[in-house]
Amino acid sequence: KVTVIGSINMDLVTSTNQIPKVGETVLGNSFHSIPGGKGANQAVAAARLGADVTMIAAVGNDSFGKTLVEHLTNEGINTENIIKVKDTSTGIASIIVSEADNSIIVVPGANNHVTPEVIEKHENKIINSDIILLQLEISVESVIKAVELAKKHGVRTILNPAPIQKLPKELLEMVDYLTPNEHEQALLFDSIGGTEEELAKYKEKCIVTKGSKGVMIYKNGEKIEIPSFQVEAVDTTGAGDSFNGALAVALCDGLEIEEACRFANVVGAISVTKLGAQTGMPTKKKLKNFYKY
Ligand code: ADP
Repeated sequence: KVTVIGSINMDLVTSTNQIPKVGETVLGNSFHSIPGGKGANQAVAAARLGADVTMIAAVGNDSFGKTLVEHLTNEGINTENIIKVKDTSTGIASIIVSEADNSIIVVPGANNHVTPEVIEKHENKIINSDIILLQLEISVESVIKAVELAKKHGVRTILNPAPIQKLPKELLEMVDYLTPNEHEQALLFDSIGGTEEELAKYKEKCIVTKGSKGVMIYKNGEKIEIPSFQVEAVDTTGAGDSFNGALAVALCDGLEIEEACRFANVVGAISVTKLGAQTGMPTKKKLKNFYKY
């Protein structure tokens, strides 16, 4: 059982030749609303691989919220614990894409209502999980509460520290696995500071994703590289989310860490062969052609 505690967003993607300057109105080329949010993406990745996935999250009492919960239910995710918050919008990311640049506004909305109190109310869901999967699109306080409760009940936790921010040492002490990409890892360790020796214990928890180069882990202070699965990349959006969802499933199934990374590398790679974060995420059936269980 995998429990994902995190964000649900609707990504509102506008494509235009020219990003408007302040005060300017321009014509766009196309508009798409696409289910997103790192929490939801990772839950979908795990569910497609056949895992029993529950989401603890929040949406607004609006049409996006309804659509997104329906979408997650259709993906086979248990959505009973997704709360509906009155007078707040569902989380959105307004994304303007031009050939040269992207600009994005994220409005967390209901995601800010996944408070430590909400997490506490779901303690029995945490107890009944094999793995808790978290990101940083809900408040750090809520992440800390979730990890605290998981630790209390001997449930393992994965924290995907994205979007990266400074994290308290107490959180890094408690969490079992950290899954930064290379850029996030550099910022994470810069923000912790301290001696190499002090950092070493946190590094041992890290599974650093390196895009087309695969993954790096630390074992007894030594770096171990686990190469990626070679594919023709079309769109790398959501690669990290696919990787994290798959990693949670692999650890849940009892794979050792290196084998779990190999499995997640294959899932991450397949996900980048299609446009969109969730579109390319493979089902268990599709994966059988690429990875032998
Ligand atoms: P993020 O999306 O968080 O920046 P990465 O870019 O590191 O994360 O990608 C996560 C994982 O997805 C990688 O470790 C790898 O397994 C897989 N992946 C990403 N891009 C590629 C690629 N071009 N080819 C093969 N695998 C990839």
